[in-house]
This record gives sequence, C-alpha cells and structure tokens, in this order.
Amino acid sequence: MKRRTIERVFASPRRHWVGNGFHVCNYFPRGARLFERFSPFILLDYNMPEEFPPARSPRGIGPHPHRGFETVTFAFEGAVEHHDNKGNHGIIYPGDVQWMTAGGGILHKEYHEKEFSKKGGVFHVIQLWVNLPSKDKMTEPGYQALEASDMGIYRLEEKKGAVHVVAGEFKGVKGPARTFSPIHIYRAVLKEGALLILEEPKDFNLGLLVIQGDLEVNGQKVNEYDFVLFDNVPGVVETKAMSEETQYMVFSGEDLKEPIVAGGPFVMNTREELMQANEDFHQGKFGTSSF
Ligand code: MN
Repeated sequence: MKRRTIERVFASPRRHWVGNGFHVCNYFPRGARLFERFSPFILLDYNMPEEFPPARSPRGIGPHPHRGFETVTFAFEGAVEHHDNKGNHGIIYPGDVQWMTAGGGILHKEYHEKEFSKKGGVFHVIQLWVNLPSKDKMTEPGYQALEASDMGIYRLEEKKGAVHVVAGEFKGVKGPARTFSPIHIYRAVLKEGALLILEEPKDFNLGLLVIQGDLEVNGQKVNEYDFVLFDNVPGVVETKAMSEETQYMVFSGEDLKEPIVAGGPFVMNTREELMQANEDFHQGKFGTSSF
C-alpha cells in the first residue's frame, strides 16, 4: 500500500494562558501562517493534562467576541462550561464536544464548570478553530452540544480499541457534527500494539495530535503530545499504538483555498472585512455583553 508521507512533526510548543483557565500549546502560532497550510483548521490550542487546584470562582475567560469561524472544544478530562449572548449554555464532560458557530458575530465566555472548579483535578481539553467558507462567514451563530454517546463508533477487532467519530466519517461510520465544508474529525483510542489505517482524501489537509501515549506513524516513532502534519499525496497512514493505551485526534478537511486575514478573535478574507468586524464589535452590533 502506498503511504501518505509525513511532512513535519511538531513537538508541543511552550504553553501560554488563555484567561486563567486554559494553559495551552498553540501548534499554529501567529506569524508562521501554518493555518493557511492546514486550512480549514486555523488554530489548535491544546491544554495537555494538567492538575488544577480547587478554586473558589471558576477559572476561564470572560465575555469576548468571535466572527467568521467556528470554535470547537473537546473535553478529555475535567469539564468546560460555556455561555453565549445568543442564549446558549452548555457543559461538556470527557468525550463531549461543543461546536460553536460564531458566524456573523457572537460573544461568549468559557470557563471550568463550577463543581469541577470547586474540587479541582486534571483538566485536559482542545480548542480547535474551524474556518468558515467565505459565503458562510456571516451566517447565523449556532451551537451544537455533542455528547460522548452521540459520536459514531467504529470498533477494532478483538477489543483492540475504537474510533469515536465527531464529524464526517471514518470507514463509513458517521459523526454527528454539522459542518460547512467537508471535514473528518475523530479520536482513536487504541490498546498497545493495535494497528489502525487511515485513508483520507489527498486534497484534504491532514494532521493528527497524540493526546495519550506514544504512537508509530508509518513506522516512525511519534511521542505523546506531538502533532503530525501529512503531505498531500495519495496513500494511507499506518498507525500503531506503542503504549498501554494510546489516543490521538485526527483532523482532516478540504482546503478552503480562500485568503485568510486574521486579527484577534476575528478571521475574515480581506482587511476591509477585518476592519468592519472590529467596527461592528465596538459599535455593539454583536449584541449584549451582559449574559
Ligand atoms: Mn472564545
């Protein structure tokens, strides 16, 4: 079988704080413009497993705006709470995903769920930004609460593991998320020695993030928390779990092939649209900030 080759392996970069609740590695730092290479994915913020002490008031980030893309939050440990000014409220627990479409404009706040905050514990989440096609950037804001039990499940033989499909499909098993462009997102959970072969369209940009244990990718050892970006060539990716339990997330999506002009919490196609986003926000057109 022809293999889809590795373009680059990124070791986890230095962490920074988003508000006081999310201690994240940003695998696509601004300036590197990797988000163009990995379209439609424009940001991958990873809070690797980290113990948070009990806190009286939940850690997180207060009301802030977004326009032009979707924020997708995956919880692996701990619990994340969300409120927005379109009336949505949700809490996600391990295995759940919160898929928020900012579209034409929304304000939201994101923080550790109250009970989790009080007790403290290990917090392990990803926030992914998914770009919207130009024609959908100003769409109505939306919110999808995707629970662990909603995910499509592909099971390996002999209880060697499973693939939890969030968006698109894996070997015919579909995920629940509604997306604006073709995207496949899934989480593989594998026992040591398990083999899993990925077959993604070559014109989909493809990357995987190891979130637990070590992995062999096309025969090459990849460490826990590494991010692997693949060349856009036809072929399969062969993965093999090298730890007692290995988990990784796969992000695969069709390149939007549109210009990206990003500034702070807005991701648009032109400078003018970015200026307009700032102006609209400052004029209060995103709606109330008390919610
Ligand atoms: Mn946000």
